[in-house]
Amino acid sequence: MHISIKEIKDCCGNPTVEVNYDGHTASAPSGTSVGKHEKPAFRHSIKAEISAFKKIKSKIGKVNIAEFSDLAKIEGLMTGFGANTLIALEYAILKSKGGYKFLRGKKMPSPLGNCIGGGAHGGTLEFQEFLITDPHSKTVQEKFFRNMQAHKLLQQELEVMDKNFRNQTTLEGAWAPNLSNEQALSLMHQVAKKLHMNFGIDIAASTFYKKNKYIYRTQTMTREEQIRYINHLIREYEPFYIEDPLEQDDFDGFSQLEHHNCLIVGDDLTATNPERLQKAVDFHSINAVIIKPNQVGSLIKTKEVIDLARKNHITPILSHRSGETEDNTLAHLAVGFELPILKIGIIGRERLSKIKELIRIEGEL
Ligand code: PEP
Ligand code: MG
Repeated sequence: MHISIKEIKDCCGNPTVEVNYDGHTASAPSGTSVGKHEKPAFRHSIKAEISAFKKIKSKIGKVNIAEFSDLAKIEGLMTGFGANTLIALEYAILKSKGGYKFLRGKKMPSPLGNCIGGGAHGGTLEFQEFLITDPHSKTVQEKFFRNMQAHKLLQQELEVMDKNFRNQTTLEGAWAPNLSNEQALSLMHQVAKKLHMNFGIDIAASTFYKKNKYIYRTQTMTREEQIRYINHLIREYEPFYIEDPLEQDDFDGFSQLEHHNCLIVGDDLTATNPERLQKAVDFHSINAVIIKPNQVGSLIKTKEVIDLARKNHITPILSHRSGETEDNTLAHLAVGFELPILKIGIIGRERLSKIKELIRIEGEL
């Protein structure tokens, strides 16, 4: 069997790897607001990892993969590798076995589209992402068109609101205006209401948490102030979704947020790691969790996190990374694992490759 590996660049210019397994290629993305509990993308230099991979590829080729759990045998051979090499290989194997069909799921996700952004992804807002989704349309294609409609309408509104707006975008193709967090929140609230859609935010709070304080451009907040502030934002703007509103180790703080009408989502908090998700369950921290396979560097553990979330009535949400490639495996994972939401950009070919594949699968089903 043919197996090969090579270095490529993601959309942010970060080096990553592309693996070919039996004629099927796949690659792994990387994050910009990387949490401290994520597995490193590479253990050593990419070059060293590529040459180590070449030494064991004949062993990889001998592993018989008849069902999903057989990937554990591959992971057993790859213990010394970083998250990206293993995920690129597992994605390529998954594709060679029929993608979503191999995972046996059949349900389409709702795309949650990134419209406005800031934080580590560029621009002046501290909050990293302002996202939108359509709860009413039936198909992925219709839902995605509605996200595009919202993205376009927001562009027009931003041209009026922000005199310095020149269509600048973040790494994920969201608009990057010169507004305050609350101006952006209020705009999202209005636009979502007008279009009968739901909006959410990824605060990515760890990116502006320094020395036990949340550092905003115009003020600094203690942990208690941040918790009160987030609960105020939930009441005032009614987002359906709020991700990483507190720093990545504050399991207890997450449990003090208002969960009744809002998905309180862990990303850096949980890092797609079964032990961290169990801790979040014990603390009643969250009612939704981000799933990013390359945070944990294992599809077996990713599946464990999804199962553990479901068992505890926590909504699993599959997500892209800021540094994406044109790989479309995410579409297969969303359908194959029947994940209800796919967090994804609205413009840019690295985002559209996943959406196009989802629409193709929808046609097939
Ligand atoms: C996120 O924080 O949800 C995200 C997609 O960002 P990154 O890929 O930069 O970690
Ligand atoms: Mg996040």
